[in-house]
Amino acid sequence: MKIGIVASEAVPFAKTGGLADVVGALFNVYNKEGNETYLFLPLYKTIKNVPYDLKKEGGIQIRIGSQDIKGNIFSKEMENGKTLVLIEQDYYFGRDSLYGTSKGDYADNAERFGYFDIAVLKAIELMKIDIDVLHLNDWQTGLIPLFIRDKNLPIKTLFTIHNLGYQGNFTQGILDLLHIDRKYFNPEGLEFYGNVSFLKSGIVYSDYISTVSPTYAREIRTKEYGAGMDGILNARKNRLIGILNGIDYSVWNPETDKLIYENYSVETISGKEKNKIQLGSALHFEMGNKPLFGMVSRLAAQKGIDIFVEALKEFLNEDIRVVLLGTGSEELENALIALQKKFPTKLKALIKFDETVAHRIYAASDFFVMPSKYEPCGLGQLIALKYGAVPVVRETGGLKDTVDNYNEVTHCGNGITFIESSKEDLMKALERAKDIYKNKTLYKQIQRTGMQCDFSWERSAKQYIDLFKKLIGDKK
Ligand code: ADP
Repeated sequence: MKIGIVASEAVPFAKTGGLADVVGALFNVYNKEGNETYLFLPLYKTIKNVPYDLKKEGGIQIRIGSQDIKGNIFSKEMENGKTLVLIEQDYYFGRDSLYGTSKGDYADNAERFGYFDIAVLKAIELMKIDIDVLHLNDWQTGLIPLFIRDKNLPIKTLFTIHNLGYQGNFTQGILDLLHIDRKYFNPEGLEFYGNVSFLKSGIVYSDYISTVSPTYAREIRTKEYGAGMDGILNARKNRLIGILNGIDYSVWNPETDKLIYENYSVETISGKEKNKIQLGSALHFEMGNKPLFGMVSRLAAQKGIDIFVEALKEFLNEDIRVVLLGTGSEELENALIALQKKFPTKLKALIKFDETVAHRIYAASDFFVMPSKYEPCGLGQLIALKYGAVPVVRETGGLKDTVDNYNEVTHCGNGITFIESSKEDLMKALERAKDIYKNKTLYKQIQRTGMQCDFSWERSAKQYIDLFKKLIGDKK
């Protein structure tokens, strides 16, 4: 099978968030079982700065408005049947960032990624790749299924939604710029409340749609979580599946992690305690034998930080410790800094992005808090489970699929969950965690159960490949 993955970012080439981790991991596993795998990315400035020794495949020319915009296709053959394909167009992709500056998104993102989508199909043609299936990711790739349909190309498509909140909605002018036939601009097509939606195009015109957890796949068909797309997602519900993300255990493993203070495993769990003590001294923060609640998160409304702040106002009066690492909304950052001022011996709010500190927090924490309003999959809780930081999470999306509330009757469970997105429910969950911590045998049992869970990529990749086989079987 020849599989093409198309995305706007992938590790190790370009990353702004979790999407890059997912795409990079899939590129490393699809080639198993002898599949030829191609990864298509824009040739960003950051990629150009690395001497990748690229091969020029040829030039392309794409009509944007009344101009022919030239570009180039580069490739790099990698190990075991993997090929990287890069679309070079310096005006669009030779910028300092992927999507925008601190002032906001680039104003021409529709044009940039519209160009990219057309260019990917041109690259396939130019390189004469007999692609069977394209795995498309998020709105930046959403026009590709439409172009494939329009040209009647023999390529099957899977469109994956990593976060329904990001839809790529733009004014109608983009239709003329990209020369998209107006016949597609209707409520059954890519029109979305008078605008053009790249995400909706992906949903409507792809052969299959997936999202990153089974629960989120159900939730996005409801009004509450559907972000306006629930109608169209319901119309295509027989072609919508949830496949859970995994994590890369070669990066996230407390037994081998070079960034943490002391390595440990489920058998050598006492090493975890040393991480807590050392993090405490590094932060000039007395941990004592208090339960430590960790959080590593974007500080965004999606993550439920607002109810966490409200709960902390009460919870910090108790005999506990909280270490939080995150950046994002200024309002939430300020609220956390203010709380730290009020409770300096109990809360450390580290307002920055720092990979090393993140690893150390997972390793040091007794509990890991994710009170998300919605969560397509979530990686934080998967990492926390592996590091023996018992997750305290809201039952939504991927959190619901991966964290089982400890049940006092059956004695099963790998974490603590709550249902309503409210300060009260979160507070009850935090109190419950604190009580469980007092019972060392019980706490260790839940911790051990979590550390033994397996959320590796191999399982998810198999589900994707089975789906591709099914799609190709559908090929007329
Ligand atoms: P999302 O992709 O919605 O932000 P996830 O839980 O899926 O949330 O993934 C977030 C990832 O980013 C996790 O690996 C987390 O450890 C990491 N992360 C988030 N904020 C920070 C930060 N301030 N510093 C370091 N890593 C962070």
